[in-house]
Amino acid sequence: MGKTMIKDQLNRPLRDLRISVIDRCNFRCTYCMPADIFGPDFAFLPKSELLTYEEIELLARIFVDLGVEKIRLTGGEPLLRKDLPILVKNLSAIEGLNDIALTTNGVLLPKLAGELKEAGLLRVNISLDSLNDELFGKINGRNVKVQTVLNGIKAAQQAELFVKINMVVKKGLNESEIVPMAKFCKEQGLQLRFIEYMDVGSTNGWKMDDVITKKEIYEILKEHYLLEPVDPDYFGEVAKRYRYKGTQTDVGFIPSVSESFCSSCTRARLSANGQIFTCLFNGNGHDMKELMRNGASEEEIRQRIIDIWSGRKDRYSDERTEETARYRKKIEMSYIGG
Ligand code: SAM
Ligand code: SF4
Ligand code: SF4
Repeated sequence: MGKTMIKDQLNRPLRDLRISVIDRCNFRCTYCMPADIFGPDFAFLPKSELLTYEEIELLARIFVDLGVEKIRLTGGEPLLRKDLPILVKNLSAIEGLNDIALTTNGVLLPKLAGELKEAGLLRVNISLDSLNDELFGKINGRNVKVQTVLNGIKAAQQAELFVKINMVVKKGLNESEIVPMAKFCKEQGLQLRFIEYMDVGSTNGWKMDDVITKKEIYEILKEHYLLEPVDPDYFGEVAKRYRYKGTQTDVGFIPSVSESFCSSCTRARLSANGQIFTCLFNGNGHDMKELMRNGASEEEIRQRIIDIWSGRKDRYSDERTEETARYRKKIEMSYIGG
């Protein structure tokens, strides 16, 4: 079947796919995998429950047939998944896929950045929430030093990957780092994206009061810098971007809580254990692993994905309240990726 005809079967556009390749992580960020819950006895997925690379590639090919142009690999910490460059290489061979990106805490980039670039990775988002060692060690829950992540950033730049920095801002935790992070990234020519703290999963104890909104961060930045709005690059671009006047450096905001963008959401998510989620905050995944392992044909899998996406009605962020945050069943970030 021709690609346009297949895309026409979807009643909502599907442009981008996030794939979590592993649920484990070498960090225990307080806002994502709090150490008291994700402790030594936490039952992570056994290897047999993770999708194999062949299974991921098959699903990715079908998603690309259905209109996906961008794939982002995430986790947990994706660089902990063995032989990740092999997956990147095979994904980059898929015709019609224009962009392969990765979100990582950066620790293993000095080892892997070159290989990943060679395999076809184009872009990497590296998470860094503070430049202060003591605070960063507390946030990442493992006392990892800022320099370790800076080494990862440098390795990604040296490998000529396009780098963005993700900073989650949480009230009472790291708002003091907004200006130092902006200054550092501006000086380095790195695009920084401030991410509003979200109620992902049910373990991070999220409260609306803990959110520092895009507007609040913008007001703080405006006291130090002249900022000009930048037009979105494409329909559904999630980040609201500004440019430091007189430079080529952008700073962005992901205002998932204060300015929801559900009406333009074109993103599907595939969890580490092979479930499709049509929304980051939807607790009901659609199991593709069993379907594939029970011998479904490619056509049957494709039809299942078409049915799932066509039946999609998610608009969680449009409807979010303190109540929905507490009571709705939601998938953990480490299963599904950011
Ligand atoms: N381990 C990798 C990392 O940290 O970049 C990839 C997975 S992580 C779940 C993906 C992104 O989600 C990171 O940028 C992280 O900061 C962000 N994130 C995690 N928990 C969050 C939360 N509660 N609110 C907003 N962003 C969050
Ligand atoms: Fe790990 Fe990333 Fe979650 Fe931090 S945000 S605990 S690095 S998955
Ligand atoms: Fe998309 Fe769900 Fe986020 Fe809305 S809340 S933008 S539907 S992922």
